[in-house]
Amino acid sequence: MKKEMCWDLEAIYPSVKLWDEDFAKLDGAIEKFAAYRGHLAESAETFRAAIETYDDFTRLSEKLYVYAHLRSDENTTVGVNRARVDRICSKLAELSPLEAWFEPEVMAIPDERMAELLASEELAFYKRSIEELLREKKHILSETEERLLGQLSDVLGTSGDVFSTLNDTDLRFGKVRGDDGKMQTLSHGSYRRFLESADRNVRRSAFRKLYKTYEKFRNTFAVTIDSTVKRHVTSAKIRKFNSALHAALHPDNIPESVYLNLISTVHEHLDGLFDYFKLRGEVLALDKVDMYDLHCPLVSECRKEYDFAAGSKLVQDALLPLGEDYARNLLRAWDERWIDVPERPGKRSGAYSSGCYDTFPYVLLNYQNTFDDVFTLAHELGHSMHSFYSRKFQHPHYADYEIFVAEVASTTNELLLSRHLLARTEDHALRAYLFAHLADEIRATIYRQTMFAEFELGIHRAAWDGEVLTADFLDENYFKLNAEYHGPFVETDPLIALEWSRIPHFHYNFYVYKYATGMSAAIRLSEKILSGEKGAVDAYLNFLKAGGSKDVLDIMKDAGVDLTTPEPIAAALQFFKNTVSELRKELTYL
Ligand SMILES: [Zn+2]
Repeated sequence: MKKEMCWDLEAIYPSVKLWDEDFAKLDGAIEKFAAYRGHLAESAETFRAAIETYDDFTRLSEKLYVYAHLRSDENTTVGVNRARVDRICSKLAELSPLEAWFEPEVMAIPDERMAELLASEELAFYKRSIEELLREKKHILSETEERLLGQLSDVLGTSGDVFSTLNDTDLRFGKVRGDDGKMQTLSHGSYRRFLESADRNVRRSAFRKLYKTYEKFRNTFAVTIDSTVKRHVTSAKIRKFNSALHAALHPDNIPESVYLNLISTVHEHLDGLFDYFKLRGEVLALDKVDMYDLHCPLVSECRKEYDFAAGSKLVQDALLPLGEDYARNLLRAWDERWIDVPERPGKRSGAYSSGCYDTFPYVLLNYQNTFDDVFTLAHELGHSMHSFYSRKFQHPHYADYEIFVAEVASTTNELLLSRHLLARTEDHALRAYLFAHLADEIRATIYRQTMFAEFELGIHRAAWDGEVLTADFLDENYFKLNAEYHGPFVETDPLIALEWSRIPHFHYNFYVYKYATGMSAAIRLSEKILSGEKGAVDAYLNFLKAGGSKDVLDIMKDAGVDLTTPEPIAAALQFFKNTVSELRKELTYL
C-alpha cells in the first residue's frame, strides 16, 4: 500500500508505547481535577484551576481515544487494536464519577457568590462557558430529585431501545421479486435499492411488503413513540419549560420561533416541491407518481471515473472560491496525510471526519474512483477544515462546534463542487445528473426533514395536552401531513400512514430540523460566496474559526445567515425551484 494513500497516525503517537505512557497518566489527571471538589466557590483562582485541569484531562483522554479508534478502524479484525478501544472506553467509564460532581457543584453556588466570582478577571475567559451552565439552573431540581432522576435515567430511556431492537433485530420483512426476477430478501438496506429500481412492480412490491410488516406491529411501535414522547413532555413539565420544544431547544439557546419559522416558510414554498413531483411524473411517464416512485433516479448514474489524484484535484479546484488561506490550509490534508483513502479488507466501511484538539482532523474514506466518492471527499474535508480552523483559532475550551452547525461546512463544500462542475460542462447528461442529485438532496434534507419536524411538534403538543399517541392517532395525523407535503401530483398509498413507525429520529428529541436549517444555511453561504458578495468569504472563514465560542445562531448570523428570519430558508427553497427548472431544461436534451 502506498504510504501517501494512508493517514499518518504516527503523528499522534510515533509508537504504541507512547500511547501506553499517556494512558497511565489518566488517573493522575482526573485526580488532580477531583481534588477541587467542594472548593469551587472558595476563590476565582481555584474555580479557574479546576476548569483548566478538567480541560487537560479531556484533551488527554480525547487524544488517547482518537488514536485508538482510528487505529482500530484501519482494520477492525485486529484484536489488539480493538482491545485498545475497549481499554480507553472502559477507563473513561470508570473515571466518570470523578468528573460528575462539577456541574451540580457549580449550580449549588449561591447566586450572589457566583456573581462575585464571575466579576473576577481570573474567570473572565471562562465566563461564557459558566454562564452556559447556569442557563440550565432555572430548570434544575433539588439535589435529591436530581439524584433520583439520575438513577432512573436508564429505566426511563428504554422506549428508544425497544424501538431499535424491534426495528433492527427482530423485524423480518420476507422476500420480494427483484429486478432479476428472483426472490430476494427485503431488509432496511435492500429496501432502498428496491425503491431505486427502474421497474415499478419491484418498487411497489417492496413498499407494500415493508409496510405490511410494520402494520402487523403498529400498536407496539405506537407504544414506543408514545412513551418516548411522554418522557420528553414529562421531563419538560417537571423542569418548568413551557413546552417540550422549548426544553429541547434550550441547550443550544435557540428560540422556538426558529423552529416554527422553518415549518411555516417551508409551507409557503411547497409549490416548488409539487412542481418537482410533476416533473418526476413526466419523466417516469406516470399521471401521478406514488410514494414508491420518489426514489428511483431521474437521470442515470454518472459513469465518470476519478482516481484519487484526479478527485483530489477536482475538490481543490472547486474550493478555490473559499480564498487563498483556505486553499493553502486545505493542501495540508494531503501534505500531512490526514486521509486514509482506499478500501481494504477489515477496514471500517463508509466515510467520516474525526480527530481532536491535539490531532489532525483525519478523514476515513473507502474511495473507489466513483463520482460519489469525489463528493464524499469534498464533504468530509468540509468537516475537517471546520475542525482545523476552529482548533487553530480557538482555545481548547471553546474549539468544539455544536451539532446545529456541524453539517454546514460539509454541505457547503458539496454545493461548491457541484456548482464548479456545472460551470465547466456542456455535457447535458452530466448537467442533468448534477441538477437531479442536487434537487433530491434538497428535497430529502429540507422538505422531508421539515415534514418530520412538523410531525414531531404535533405529537409532542398532543401528548402535552394529555392525548395518548395510539396507532390510529399516529396513522391519521401522519397520513394527513404527508398528503399536504406531497400535493396534487402524488398519489399517496394509504400504507404510507405507517411511515412514522420506522423513523428512528422520532425517538430523538427535536433533532431533524437541524438538517433542514443546516442545509438552508449552506445553500445561502455557497450562493453568497459564488456570487462574489463583498465580505462573504471572510464571513465564512469566521464561521469556520468560531468553534463553540458563541451561540450557534450568532455564529450563523455573523456568517450572513439569520435563521430567526424566513430569508435563508426562503432563499434555499427558491434555489431548489431554480434547480428543478434547470433540471427540466436539461432533460429535454436527453
Ligand atoms: Zn457530514
